[in-house]
Amino acid sequence: MSKEQILVIEDEKDILSMVRLRLESRGFHVFTAESGELALQWLAEHNPDLILLDLMLPGMNGLEVLKHIRTDQNLAKIPILIVSALGEESDVVVGLERGADDYLSKPFNMSILMARVNALLRRSKPEIENKPTPPQKKSSEDSDDSILFGLLRIDLKRYHVFVNDKQVALTSTEYRLLLTLIASKGRVLTRNQLIEEAIGNDAIVTDRTIDVHLTSLRGKLGSARNLIETVRGVGYRFRL
Ligand code: CA
Repeated sequence: MSKEQILVIEDEKDILSMVRLRLESRGFHVFTAESGELALQWLAEHNPDLILLDLMLPGMNGLEVLKHIRTDQNLAKIPILIVSALGEESDVVVGLERGADDYLSKPFNMSILMARVNALLRRSKPEIENKPTPPQKKSSEDSDDSILFGLLRIDLKRYHVFVNDKQVALTSTEYRLLLTLIASKGRVLTRNQLIEEAIGNDAIVTDRTIDVHLTSLRGKLGSARNLIETVRGVGYRFRL
């Protein structure tokens, strides 16, 4: 069905062939590179729809590859999914802050990989190609001002948040964090990105502070708390 091109940059042959097989079975055109140098050579003449990037590579490492891609005008907008071993979270954080879109840790489940790939491809499509996806409109009188995610409803005009139709009282920081996560739904945001976007750089905020706000926010969301996912050692993601 799909003819999107995916470049997989990965030096572990087993993983590479497994990923290739799965992606090809879903109709993607898959190209592979076993080093960053080979990937950049290929990218000089091709423009794939998505890149899967391993961080630990022989020679040029994944973060350097990412930097080259993001500073190249022709490639800057291609969604990048970092695939990396556990224990490399600090590199993953750097990667996300340098413009990678999402992160998956090894060993990973193939269906989760497919979900991430599809989410990134959906996000990168121009608006007109998108089906009317959430935020869904609510068919009440204030429909235009409300967004709905399962049990969670947000009245954007009045800054009210409801779970199961019961209003929950959020602090303004919690509210801004929630909207920031929703605006990037499906992507991992690092703590620094949340600080920059939801709180502002002038404030003195530590990673720990963000965790405290997020814990409080999730607590208040109650049965809708799982909409916000903790990505261990890396940051947070609002589920698609
Ligand atoms: Ca590797």
